[in-house]
Amino acid sequence: MEKKARSSIYKTIPAMAIVPLMLFGILVLSICSVRFNKVMHEKVEDELKNIASSVAATYDTVFPGEYRYETSDNIAFYYKGDEEITGNFTIIDSQKEATGAEISIFYKDVRMITTIKDSEGQRLIGSGVSTVVCKDVLEQKTPGFYDSVEIGNNTYCAYYMPLLTENGGCIGMIAVAKPAEVIKDLVFKAIAPIIAVTVIAMLVAGIISFRYAKNLAVAIGNLQQALSNVAKGELSKEPHYTVMGRNDEISDMGRSVVAMQKSLHVLIERDALTELYNRRCANQRLKKIMKKAETTGTRFCVGLGDIDFFKKVNDTYGHEMGDKVLIAVSKAMKASMTGSGFVARWGGEEFLVVFDETEYDAGMAKLKIMLENIRALRIPDERFEMPIQVTMTFGIVAGGGEDDMDHLLRAADERLYQGKSEGRNRIIGE
Ligand code: GH3
Ligand code: MG
Ligand code: MG
Repeated sequence: MEKKARSSIYKTIPAMAIVPLMLFGILVLSICSVRFNKVMHEKVEDELKNIASSVAATYDTVFPGEYRYETSDNIAFYYKGDEEITGNFTIIDSQKEATGAEISIFYKDVRMITTIKDSEGQRLIGSGVSTVVCKDVLEQKTPGFYDSVEIGNNTYCAYYMPLLTENGGCIGMIAVAKPAEVIKDLVFKAIAPIIAVTVIAMLVAGIISFRYAKNLAVAIGNLQQALSNVAKGELSKEPHYTVMGRNDEISDMGRSVVAMQKSLHVLIERDALTELYNRRCANQRLKKIMKKAETTGTRFCVGLGDIDFFKKVNDTYGHEMGDKVLIAVSKAMKASMTGSGFVARWGGEEFLVVFDETEYDAGMAKLKIMLENIRALRIPDERFEMPIQVTMTFGIVAGGGEDDMDHLLRAADERLYQGKSEGRNRIIGE
């Protein structure tokens, strides 16, 4: 099977939070600009159409009659009724002043009078129109709106209205135009607030979701790190605060990691039956105490104890009761511990007791109290009238930073066996 390319949530989660948002924003802006462009063009077309009608109506009122074209000595004359309008710009100039639109009147496709001037202030009389306009307006006799018409050196939006004669012919056109830039400005002014609001909203939403997504990715990464640390045996380091500081499923998982560490701690360090430290952990703890003694000069005591005639307990009451006795003895020993130090199950019915920061005499006194508490135990067995009682034999040695651990343990063990051979139920010290 082909191996799937590994991806990283550091990249995918933030990307997933940002990309759809950006696509949505681009879509909104595109729809808005297309829509506004259309609306603005329609608005301008209406406006130019109204101006063209107004110009036509003014000419009809001021100069009643038909448009006529005559030439004399190769000079063209354009009439409206009896009036020659060729050099008369009064109406179109005043309409331009009122509306801001450029106005031209054509004979056929020739611009006869116009408000449009070139850079030197000369009116662009005599200029023509595109073949499309000729075809649509002059031939088809239908008005037309064009959003990109070149007149002189400028681009205009222009509305062309055919001038019809009584016999149904088309003698020319009235053209009303506004620079294309004006429409672009209108569209931009209408759309600019929408662009601004959309961009700001996208930025704010983008920053919020990016930050959330990034924090999530970081938390997941640190959770993964915590789990990998546990897998390597690291049981004391809590997951990073980016995991534990949250208040959601990620921090729940972080707390599960901590619980897992604690459970593993117990499994590794504790004896399953008595819940005391096991021998492996006892060795480590004693080593630490000795190291501390080496650097600080403190003293400590090490005791090794063994339950007397424990085989007999098992033989008389059964192995299960034997276990109960071991648990009761362990609890009594632990309860008898004062100050720093620890009790551990060294093996079978044998226990290690370490009194840290304790001189020999004080250690001996503490151990005596511990033995008294063990002797005072009464472990009931319902099958028997008398409860079970046990005694223990201990060997105790005093230690410091200069001592060797094996040597100390051997010395304690020797004293323990001395106690056994001397009759048990006692403590052998120096
Ligand atoms: P002594 O006073 O000389 O120590 O005599 P003892 O009978 O205690 O010594 P021995 O070493 O002969 O017997 C120890 C017994 O402890 C043998 C073993 O079955 C029992 N034992 C060791 N571990 C456990 C345990 O976890 N549960 C139970 N019930 N018995 C255990
Ligand atoms: Mg033993
Ligand atoms: Mg024993």
